[in-house]
This record gives sequence, C-alpha cells and structure tokens, in this order.
Amino acid sequence: RVAYVNGRYLPHAEAGVHVEDRGLQFADGVYEVIAIEGGRPIDLGGHMTRLERSLRELRMTMPMPPRAMRLVMREVVRRNAVRIGILYLQVTRGTYRRDHPFPPATVAPTLVMTARSGVRPTSAMVENGIGVVTVPDQRWARRDIKSVSLLPNVMAKQQAKDAGAYEAWQVDRDGFVTEGTSTNAWIVTKDGTLVTRPLNHDILAGITRDSVLTLAAQAGLTVEQRPFTVEEAKAAREAFISSTTAAALPVVRIDDASIANGAPGSITRQLWDLYEAHIARAGAE
Ligand code: PMP
Repeated sequence: RVAYVNGRYLPHAEAGVHVEDRGLQFADGVYEVIAIEGGRPIDLGGHMTRLERSLRELRMTMPMPPRAMRLVMREVVRRNAVRIGILYLQVTRGTYRRDHPFPPATVAPTLVMTARSGVRPTSAMVENGIGVVTVPDQRWARRDIKSVSLLPNVMAKQQAKDAGAYEAWQVDRDGFVTEGTSTNAWIVTKDGTLVTRPLNHDILAGITRDSVLTLAAQAGLTVEQRPFTVEEAKAAREAFISSTTAAALPVVRIDDASIANGAPGSITRQLWDLYEAHIARAGAE
C-alpha cells in the first residue's frame, strides 16, 4: 500500500507526519472520506465543496488547487489498486513549534491521503439491520465542520460497540437526535414520511444524506427535514443511517426497543437499492 504525504508517495507502513504537526497536537485539521466504486470516486464534487467549506470556516487554505488535488486522489486510488473501497484525505494547519495561535502564513498545510479496499457493510448488516444506542451529544457547537477532532465520536462509538450495537445516536439537550458518530440519522413515520434533521451547525452535512434526499424525491417519497426525538424514533415504522461507508443501512433496534417488527423496513430497502444504483452509475461514468 501507498500513502500520499505532502507531495510524496510513500510506503504505507513508513508514511507519517512530523511530531509537531498541528493535526497531531491540536486536532487542528479537517478530513473527507470518499467512496470508491469501479476505481472512481463517488460524489467527488460534493466532497470537494464540503472540504473547501470546512477549511474556510477554520481560516485554512486548500493545500493545492482542487484540480491538482483530484489528480493526486486518482493517483492514490490507482497506486493502491482500489476498485471498491474508500479514499481518506486529511488537511492540517501544518507543522510548527507548539503554540495555540495559528502559525505564520508561510507554514504550508499538511496534506495526507490513503486509500483502501473493502469497508462496506456486511450482508448480514444489510439483511438483518443494525442496533444503535443513544448517548448525550457531547461534541462542540460546530459539528458542520468536518474536523479531525473526533474524541466524543470515538467515545460514543466505543460505547455502542460495548453494548453490542453498531452506531451511537447522539442526543441534544432537548431530547432530539442530532446524528450518529459517523452517520446521519433517519426515521420513517407510520404514514411513510422520511424524517431527518435539517442542516445547521448541529450536524454534518452528509454527502450521502444529500444523495438520499435526491433519490427519495425522485422516487416520489415525502421527506420532512425536522428534528425527531428518541421516543419518536423508537415508535417509528423504520429507521436507518446514512454515510459514505454505510450507504442507507437499516436500524432495527434503538437501545432496548425494537423498531416495528424488528426487521429492516421496505422504504429503507428501496433507498438502499436506489443508492446502490446511484453509486454503480457514478462508478461506471
Ligand atoms: N455525520 C458525521 C458526524 C460523520 O462523521 C459522517 C461521516 N463523515 C456523516 C455524518 C456522514 O457523512 P457522509 O454521508 O458524507 O459520509
């Protein structure tokens, strides 16, 4: 395997950044995870736009022009011979002696990319659905920025794993679900309406969330973008999570409550199929 680090393609096992990198010391950086299908990045435009926005919000700059970055991405995928998998991309505020304020503008950002094959839900997860646990949302107030500062997400995800669940749904102070640790949260109401939280600083604008919204609209499904509570979710007809790696994965248990009859729902199934067709189409383009 090969990793890209600041202009160089290095053997994965030996690739690293400096000990004084601000990503390492302050989690002062942002990232993207992009699905690869047929050796091609899926929804690349959306990921690039979100990356540029995350950087701008943190007063960081793109390490290279978007077109050059796309070429590097393609090269990392090619050198790792990835057909179906993910590309990971991280930009930090660079390397400088440890001090909280930004380093001088002359300090270049650090750009790292890796790619690997696989990383899709198992067929058992797709067929049987997954469980989620609910946890208080302990993250900061700018969850719309895709920052590498993921400690609350890590703690919540481990809590899910310890409980035999796949994901943790984080809950705000008013009892409304914000999102998963690395996925957006959805329910389907008894009358078949899709519900997901609207975009603002409370959640990450998932690229898959956006694709699912488009696919749902094309399929004539009704969608409401509004917050929902844990209670409403437990009583819902269906629930699922969306992300680059999870696609639209059915949720069949929330804490100790089964969703409906405990089997994946038909609308979730339909969205899964539509999303699979979307990435197959994009991968073949
Ligand atoms: N929310 C959070 C907190 C995430 O980390 C992710 C994955 N990066 C998502 C949602 C889903 O986003 P996407 O569909 O772009 O993978």
